[in-house]
Amino acid sequence: MTSKHDLVEGNYGVDDEGYFGQFGGAFIPELLQPNISQLQREYRTLLEDDDFQREFSELLRDYVGRPTPLTFATRCSEELGFRLFLKREDLAHTGAHKINNALGQALLAKRLKRTRIIAETGAGQHGVATATVCALLGLSCVIYMGEKDIERQAPNVGRMRLLGAEVVSVSSGSRTLKDATNEAMRDWIAHPTDTHYIIGSVVGPHPFPDLVARLQSVIGQEVRSQLALQTSRDYPDLVVACVGGGSNAIGIFGEFLHQDKGEQKVQLLAVEAAGEGLDSGKTAATIALGRAGVLHGSYTLFLQNSDGQVVEPHSLSAGLDYPGIGPQHAHLFSSGRCQFESVTDEEAVRAAFWLSRSEGIIPALETAHALAAVKRLKGFVGKTVVVSLSGRGDKDMETYLKWSSEIDVRR
Ligand SMILES: *Cc1c(COP(=O)(O)O)cnc(C)c1O
Repeated sequence: MTSKHDLVEGNYGVDDEGYFGQFGGAFIPELLQPNISQLQREYRTLLEDDDFQREFSELLRDYVGRPTPLTFATRCSEELGFRLFLKREDLAHTGAHKINNALGQALLAKRLKRTRIIAETGAGQHGVATATVCALLGLSCVIYMGEKDIERQAPNVGRMRLLGAEVVSVSSGSRTLKDATNEAMRDWIAHPTDTHYIIGSVVGPHPFPDLVARLQSVIGQEVRSQLALQTSRDYPDLVVACVGGGSNAIGIFGEFLHQDKGEQKVQLLAVEAAGEGLDSGKTAATIALGRAGVLHGSYTLFLQNSDGQVVEPHSLSAGLDYPGIGPQHAHLFSSGRCQFESVTDEEAVRAAFWLSRSEGIIPALETAHALAAVKRLKGFVGKTVVVSLSGRGDKDMETYLKWSSEIDVRR
């Protein structure tokens, strides 16, 4: 991480109050005010501190395994007619991009003298990443997880417990990520001084969306130098990523947002989960169907009914099963800088099978949404496309096996 890639510059970064255009801010309970104000005041200085940068980049290299490879997808490219590169976050320690953020925030928490870490998790990937860095750094760790997610992500729950974390089952509401998030907030309010809440995506009150974006910006920075070595240019024509809250997407987009001072040379495509379809009532397509309001501490777009109540999202992939989206994405959408598309459960599963058989890489179900959008791209013949391969598919094997007996996987 270097200040050269300062996300605050340009029209797409955060302002002093924590806004991206009209979205963002910090809508928080009174009791959390001191804790979050301290974070707001200090996070930039702490991130720019030499000692922090050295420790973070050494651990990213020696513990996480960065830089992750940029793989040219030979057989997929042949089939698609454009050059497809995969940014291999699946090869980062713990199997997804989430570790970049968890590690960075845990290092910050130590510097802020917080001894206890809490987090919420959906797919379990953020919980595993958080439990991992807490073990590494000797911090106590409590993970909130919806009861339903605990059932569908059993291997990750086992991992968290093995790593020494306490996993708390949340049985309120839809028993998924949004309820776990509410519970984690309650814990934080009850422990306002000794605890840091490691939010797992570019969501929540300021400074989290900006903080997480900065900690994940290493993804796009690596893509730039890897493309420079592997192609004739250091930027692609298009970058594609799936979005739950939006951290892997912002992590890979950030580097290319401001290129040529506002000239939109690199196209950006974010892919959200349509679930069973946009009209099915069982969807997590926030951009397509959401409206603006305050969710989990920031003003952003989320799925809501006519009374402004959060609507239960649905996606086969636990990591995209979130009713909102980060405020920076809401801004990238409303300013037109980034395109958004949605992909159904079935399209995602088919794309996962396609990548597995074409390249020998089994992607996470979340990632498969981005791949499905790549498959249907038009007008990119001869161009260079980079997709964020946000995670590996081991945790989704049960789902894949179930579907492979129901659909013809070769189509
Ligand atoms: C959590 C997760 C996502 C979604 O989170 P973002 O913050 O939108 O990146 C995507 N892919 C994988 C593999 C995940 O674990």
